[in-house]
Amino acid sequence: MAKKTVDDIQVTGKRVLVRCDFNVPMKDGKITNDKRIVAALPTIKKLIADGGKVILCSHLGKPKNGPEEKFSLAPVAVRLSELLGQNVVFANDDNVVGENAKAAVAAMKDGDVVLLQNTRFRAEETKNGEAFSKDLATLADAYVDDAFGSCHRAHCSTAGVTAYTSPNVAGYLIGKELSIMGKALENADRPFVAVLGGAKIEDKLNVINNLLEKVDTLIIGGGMAFTFLKAKGYEIGQSLLDESKIDYCKDMMKKAEEKGVKLLLPVDSVIVKEFPNPIDAEIETCVVDADKIPADMQGCDIGPKTVELFGAAIKAAKTVVWNGPMGVFENPTLAKGTLGVAQAMADSDAVTIIGGGDSAAAVEQMGLAPKMTHISTGGGASLEYLEGKTLPGVAALNDK
Ligand code: ATP
Repeated sequence: MAKKTVDDIQVTGKRVLVRCDFNVPMKDGKITNDKRIVAALPTIKKLIADGGKVILCSHLGKPKNGPEEKFSLAPVAVRLSELLGQNVVFANDDNVVGENAKAAVAAMKDGDVVLLQNTRFRAEETKNGEAFSKDLATLADAYVDDAFGSCHRAHCSTAGVTAYTSPNVAGYLIGKELSIMGKALENADRPFVAVLGGAKIEDKLNVINNLLEKVDTLIIGGGMAFTFLKAKGYEIGQSLLDESKIDYCKDMMKKAEEKGVKLLLPVDSVIVKEFPNPIDAEIETCVVDADKIPADMQGCDIGPKTVELFGAAIKAAKTVVWNGPMGVFENPTLAKGTLGVAQAMADSDAVTIIGGGDSAAAVEQMGLAPKMTHISTGGGASLEYLEGKTLPGVAALNDK
C-alpha cells in the first residue's frame, strides 16, 4: 500500500516533527562525511517553503548511559545551517524534550528550523517507551519520517511517537526508497536479477528464500557462496563455511529448480594461502575452478570467469538488486570481483538498486554511484525489505 508523503499534507503554521538520519561519521567532534545531512535537505526545504515549523530529530551513534557530549548533535546543527543558508536552532537538552527544547519550539515562527538533541540520550528511545514517545508528540502537529536507515527499528522516534501524532507521512528519502524497492519486489521489469554477497549466509537466509519467490535469476557470490558450493559436494578448502546451513543451501537449490529460477554460483575462485592480515596487506593469489580449491587454501574473491558469467546475467536484466560484496573487497587484490559486478551494473540499462552498506561503499569508491538508479540509504532496512518483512517505521505511516 502506498504511503502518504510530505506532498499530501498541508503544514503552514504547523509544528512538524521530522525524524531524519543524521547518524553521520564524526572524528574529534567534526563531521567527516555530510552525505546524510545533504540527503535530508529536499524534505526539510519543502517543509520550510510551505511555512511549517520544522522540528528535526535523529539519533547519533550509540550512547550507552544517556547523554554523552561526543554524541551531541550540535555539529549537525552548524552544518545544516550552512547548507540551508538559514539558522538552525540547536535545542541542547539532555532530556531531548525538556525545558530548553520546549522553549525553542514555543519561540518558532513559520519556516524556522529547530534540531533536537540526540534521541538516544533518552534510554527509552530504543525500547520504544511510552513516555518519550508522548513527549516527542507534544511538540508536533504532524510527523514526517525520513530516516530509512532506522525504520526497521521500532523506536520512539521512528514508530512509537506515531501513536500520538497525526498525520504521519513519509519524507522524500523514504518515499523514494519505498517506491523503487516496492516496484522491484512487487512489479519488477523482467528479467529481474538479484545479486547477493557478503560473509555470513546466516544474515541472509530469509532474503534468499524470499527472493526466490520474486526473481528470475539469483546470483550468489562472496563468502556465503562457499556453503552452497559445499552443498553441491565441492571441495572448498579453508573457505568460509557455515556447516549448519548446508541443508538449507540444498533446500534453496531445490526450490530454485522447482520455481524455474536460475541460481548462479561462482565457477572460479581467487584463492589465497592465508587470509590477509592486515586486511589490505599485499597478498599472493591464484585462480582455480570453483570445484578445485586445494584443501589448504581459501577463496577470497570470485574469479574472472565468474565475473563474466554474473556480468552477462546483469547486462541482460531489466531490474537488478545487489547486496553484499563478492569478495574481500577491502584488499585491492581481492576487490576485482566486487568491482566487476559494480561495473556490469553501471553498464546495464536495467533499473539498478544497491542495497546500501559495503556494496554502496564499493560503488561510490569506483565513482559509479551516478550510474545507478538507486543507492539505498539503509543497509539493514533494505535487507529486511528484501526479506519481505514489515518495517515498523513504514507501517506507522498513513496509507494514501
Ligand atoms: P552490505 O554491507 O553490502 O549489506 P554486508 O555488510 O551485509 O554487505 P557482510 O555479510 O557483512 O555483508 O559481509 C561483508 C564482508 O564480507 C566484507 O568485509 C568482506 O571482506 C567479507 N567477505 C566477502 N567475501 C569473502 C570471502 N570469500 N571470504 C571471507 N570474507 C569475505
